[in-house]
Amino acid sequence: MFDKIVIANRGEIALRILRACRELKIKTVALHSTADRDTKYVRLADESVCIGPPAASESYLNVPAVIAAAEVTDAGAIHPGYGFLSENADFAERVEQSGFAFIGPRAETIRLMGDKISAIRAMQEAGVPCVPGSDGPLPEDNDRIIETAARIGYPVIIKAAGGGGGKGMRVVHTEAALLNAVRLTRGEARAAFNNDVVYMEKFLETPRHVEFQVLADSHGNAVHLGDRDCSMQRRHQKVIEEAPAPGITDEQRAFIGRRCAEACRVIGYRGAGTFEFLYENGEFYFIEMNTRVQVEHPVTELVTGIDIVKEQIRIAAGLPLPFTQDDITLKGHAVECRINAEDPNNFMPSPGRVVQYHPPGGPGVRVDSHLFTNYAVPPYYDSMIAKVIAFGADREEALARMHGALQEMIIDGIRTNIPLQQRLVNDAEFRRAPVNIHYLEKLLAR
Ligand code: ADP
Repeated sequence: MFDKIVIANRGEIALRILRACRELKIKTVALHSTADRDTKYVRLADESVCIGPPAASESYLNVPAVIAAAEVTDAGAIHPGYGFLSENADFAERVEQSGFAFIGPRAETIRLMGDKISAIRAMQEAGVPCVPGSDGPLPEDNDRIIETAARIGYPVIIKAAGGGGGKGMRVVHTEAALLNAVRLTRGEARAAFNNDVVYMEKFLETPRHVEFQVLADSHGNAVHLGDRDCSMQRRHQKVIEEAPAPGITDEQRAFIGRRCAEACRVIGYRGAGTFEFLYENGEFYFIEMNTRVQVEHPVTELVTGIDIVKEQIRIAAGLPLPFTQDDITLKGHAVECRINAEDPNNFMPSPGRVVQYHPPGGPGVRVDSHLFTNYAVPPYYDSMIAKVIAFGADREEALARMHGALQEMIIDGIRTNIPLQQRLVNDAEFRRAPVNIHYLEKLLAR
C-alpha cells in the first residue's frame, strides 16, 4: 500500500479522498491554489503544497506544478478526483513516467474512452448496446452524410468525437438543416476541442439517464455495482441522483451490468468507472464512459456498502478486488442532492462568506462537504459546495429523510439552491418516478 498520496483536487472531493486515505492509514498531501489556502482539507492533510494562483489553468490544471509537488513530498501516488486533470491522458502518462501511481486507468484507456467514436467501437465489440448511428466519423462527402441520416431516421444528433461537458452537439430534425448543422458542429468542435471529427446518432426524444458503476483491478477482475438514475438535469448538469434506478428490473440491471463488467475486461480497464446510458422504451443505449470517480458515487456506496474511493486506491496499489460479483447485493435506496452556491431563481453563482453552517444529520443522512462557518466560497471554481445523501429502506423513506435533511440544513451568508432542491424532492411527478432528462427544465420553465 502507498505510504503517501497527493490529492490533486479541491472542495468536497479533496476531503472525501483525504478521509479514505486516513482510513487506509495513508498520509496525505493537499494541493491548493492561493484561493484555497484556508480550507478544511488543507488543515486536515498531513502536508500541503500551494501550486499556484486562483485560476485553475495556473494551479489545478498545471501539470508540472502537480508533479513537482509529488516529487518534493516524496509521495507514491496521485489521486485526481473528478474534473480538472482526472480524464487527461497526457497527465496520467506524465504521472506514471515520473514514477508515481496514477489512481485511475492507464493513459491509453483514458485516451480510448475519451474519443467517443473509439469508445463506441470498443463497446460494440464488447456487446454493450449503443445508439444507432454513423458507426464512425462522418465523411466529408455531403451525399453520404444525407444518406446516413436517412438510414438512421430523423431526428439525429451531430456530436463531436472529442466533446465533453455537454458541448459540441446539435440536434437536426430535417434534411434541409442537416449539412449546415454538420458544418457548424465541426467548426465548434475544432475551436473547443481542437478536433473537428464529428459523428451522428439517432436523437432519442424522451430518454432517461441511467448509468452503471464499475470497479476493475489490474488482475483481470471486474464487477458492476448496479445503476444510478441521473435524469434530473439542467443544461446537462446533474441535479439529483439516485440508486438503484427506479423501474429497472433486477434482470435488466444484471444483464447490462454484466455487459459493462465484460467490457472492462475486454479493454483492460483499471479502477472505478461509469458507463453512461440513455434509456428509452425499455432499451439501454451506451453514450459514453467516464474514467474516474463521479460526483454521485455516494448513492452507490450506500446501497452496496462498498467504499468506491478506498477501492480505487487499493486497485492502484495493485491489490485484487476483495469481492466477486456474487458478493455484491443492493440494499435499500439512496438519493443525492447537489447543493450549489447559486441563486435558486436565476442560477447565478453566489460566492462569498458562509456566516452560519449547520449540516443536517440523523438516520441515513450523509453530508459530503468541505464547508464550515466562516468559510469563504471562492468565485473561481464550480459552484457545488455540498452533497446531501439520504439512505432509506426504500425510495419513499430515502426521500422523506432527504426532505428532513434539507429542512435542517442551514447555509447563511450566500445563496444556495436548497429551496429548489426541497421543491424537487417534494414534486409529485418526481415522487411517482421515473422522469426523463427533460423533466426538470420543463418544470423550471413552468
Ligand atoms: P458530454 O460528454 O458532453 O457530457 P454525452 O455524450 O454524455 O456528452 O451527452 C450529454 C447529454 O446530451 C446526454 O446526457 C443527453 O442529455 C444528450 N444526448 C447525447 N446523445 C444523445 C442522443 N443520441 N439522443 C438524445 N440525447 C442525447
